[in-house]
Amino acid sequence: ARLLSYPEIKRDPKFAKLTEEHVNYFKGVVGSDSAIIDGVTKDASEDIESYNSDWMRKFRGHTQLVLKPTNKEELSKILKYCNDNMLAVVPQGGNSGLVGGSVPVFDEIVINLQKMNKIRSFDQVSGILVADAGVILENADNYLAERNHIFPLDLGAKGSCQIGGNVATNAGGLRLLRYGSLHGNVLGIEAVLPDGTIVNDLCTLRKNNTGYDLKQLFIGAEGTIGIITAVSIQCAARSQAVNVAYFGLESFEKVQEAYRTAKGQLAEILSAFELMDGRTQKLVNKVTGKKMPLEGEYPFYCLVETSGSNTDHDAEKLQAFLEHVMETEIVLDGTLADNQTQIQELWSWREGITEVLGHEGGVYKYDLSIPISELYDIVNDTRDRLTEAGLVGDGPDYPVVDVVGYGHMGDANLHLNIPTRRFDKAVEKQLEPFVYEWVQKRNGSISAEHGLGVTKKPYVSYSKNETMMKLMKQIKDLYDPKGIMNPYKYI
Ligand code: FAD
Repeated sequence: ARLLSYPEIKRDPKFAKLTEEHVNYFKGVVGSDSAIIDGVTKDASEDIESYNSDWMRKFRGHTQLVLKPTNKEELSKILKYCNDNMLAVVPQGGNSGLVGGSVPVFDEIVINLQKMNKIRSFDQVSGILVADAGVILENADNYLAERNHIFPLDLGAKGSCQIGGNVATNAGGLRLLRYGSLHGNVLGIEAVLPDGTIVNDLCTLRKNNTGYDLKQLFIGAEGTIGIITAVSIQCAARSQAVNVAYFGLESFEKVQEAYRTAKGQLAEILSAFELMDGRTQKLVNKVTGKKMPLEGEYPFYCLVETSGSNTDHDAEKLQAFLEHVMETEIVLDGTLADNQTQIQELWSWREGITEVLGHEGGVYKYDLSIPISELYDIVNDTRDRLTEAGLVGDGPDYPVVDVVGYGHMGDANLHLNIPTRRFDKAVEKQLEPFVYEWVQKRNGSISAEHGLGVTKKPYVSYSKNETMMKLMKQIKDLYDPKGIMNPYKYI
């Protein structure tokens, strides 16, 4: 494995190496079209590289086999065979995860869900959607839009991530403030366990108090206990009126004031409150060449979205909010969008950040939950620390381009990002465990929404105590006693 910036992990010799006999078995199950093979047989195959490398191009494994089952029965046969033959596997959705969880570390077999991509049912009255795990998030949302409903999750990678991957990472995203977390919205799960058992818990009931709520274990498990094949999920009615405002502010204190005011004045129509520092916005401007939404430059920006059912009522509320925050100088400047094109344009200043950060090389990414009053302090403290160490600056002599912060203000979730020209041990030494200790001191979480994957593996104890870690290990051992599911990752 080539882990560009993390300690070496050794291949576990208990796992078997792939042979031609194994490959022939799998081809018998899924057919040649659904098995991408590299090196084991002479079959011509699709390029395997994109399944081996993650979205950030930070992690690269060496799988020789990618399997794309088309239904749960095929998947059950595959997993049972892997379990019986000690073949390690990595479940893979859209491969947009940001913690290195979706690609092999060594030669684990990739099981990609992209061929399980059907909407199974949608109930217009209850708003409950049942869909295969491999449905792409944007496709699910478009399907629901045609039926005046909305998927209760939205994120920048919507065009490639799959709903099974979203559930496996317990993704948070841009709508959590309004619709809550997947732990609340997912009503049921269908999954296959490593021994081939098909778990049918595809409940479509809003209420179901019949003992342990086992589906919750799969939400955020990151493919360590089984593979999700379908989900049922509660979807809300789509709002008829959506408005977006984008503000420039002079300090993080003012951002907090703006958030408090938005909650008070916009109340039930507030659907997103996102934070972007000035550095991220300048970077989007530099990389995309787009004109910034506001004339002046500000140290902080925020994006406020409202969604409601009455256009005039919502516009009136938003206008009153806008006037109030301008008059009281909570914000220094702002602009409003009320048609789809303008709304998307303003959102692109928030959603486009993740993509532009890697422009000059790589990115060290930290996805943190921190008490809201101290949310941005970690960005300043980290920048000071790296600056003192002489690691930040313009030009090729400096590994670090900048230290920036943005995130889901309404969820007290900050993305601390350090765009770099190259991955560098000296930078890593300054960052870790510094960032984790900083978060631990404030009782925060080292992973708010991206999960743990391989990147956070050595640091889980900063957010989970010994007893919790022991219980997690016991659950892993119960569901996956041979340890074939996504090994080398956080557990
Ligand atoms: P993958 O990346 O393929 O897999 C992620 C993990 O889930 C892996 O451990 C994998 O083994 C496991 N997995 C995948 N499918 C299954 C399955 N069917 N059963 C069991 N395990 C499975 N995340 C947020 O929370 N909020 C954001 O706002 C956000 N914004 C993003 C913006 C961009 C531009 C990008 C690239 C990523 C962003 N993410 C965000 C990261 C987010 O975790 C993923 O985009 C998404 O949830 C992962 O889905 P995926 O299908 O790509 O899963």
